[in-house]
Amino acid sequence: MNLKQWILDAADVVFPRQCAVCGRVLGSEEHHVCRACMASMPVTGYHMVDFNPFEQLAEGRVPIEHATAYFFYDKQSPYVRIIHDAKYRNMPKIGRYIAAHAAREIQPSGFFNGIDLIVPVPIHFSKRASRGYNQTEYIARGISDITRIPVINAVRAAHAHNTQTNLNAQQRLKNAQHIYDIHPRHAGQLRHRHILLVDDVVTTGATLLACAEALRAVEGVTVSLFTLAIAHHN
Ligand SMILES: [Zn+2]
Repeated sequence: MNLKQWILDAADVVFPRQCAVCGRVLGSEEHHVCRACMASMPVTGYHMVDFNPFEQLAEGRVPIEHATAYFFYDKQSPYVRIIHDAKYRNMPKIGRYIAAHAAREIQPSGFFNGIDLIVPVPIHFSKRASRGYNQTEYIARGISDITRIPVINAVRAAHAHNTQTNLNAQQRLKNAQHIYDIHPRHAGQLRHRHILLVDDVVTTGATLLACAEALRAVEGVTVSLFTLAIAHHN
């Protein structure tokens, strides 16, 4: 056992690291989520499904190439804690870890083939300032860790969208439509590229599709979508 491992193990005794999903104390080989919870993750398998429900969600709203989400987001499910930890509990590294795991599983299907750049959905700068990080950027980095596709923060959020909560899906889409724009510094890099737009969770798709729309305003850009989780659509 090397010194680093010894220190990590010693720290585990004092502050045991727990599985984000079931709360069980993690072994030294486990990170963020225990092996059992990883194995029973409610994965969608959407990367293997033609015209999957995520792609159907975008249909008729914004033209996209492909879309996939790694696991199902269900408010009753303990797996929702992965998203909450990444977003609100100052643990964005779990997002990077799960995204890398997802990318490793998805890559053999060819889903990432032809994608030139990964762009995270931005959060408004005031949220970024209070939270200290953009959880979606960590998810983008996790995919990049496996695929080696570069990450670029090309999109800016112009307004906070805290008024979204009381609107219906159609109103949300309208409200979200103009709040994203392309950072002038990056517009040239995006031209004629196939971009993977990344977010943590997709529910109505309003913010994600507004962001995709902003990217598609750049000449020759095509967009695919990846989210860590997707809400069930009945
Ligand atoms: Zn667990």
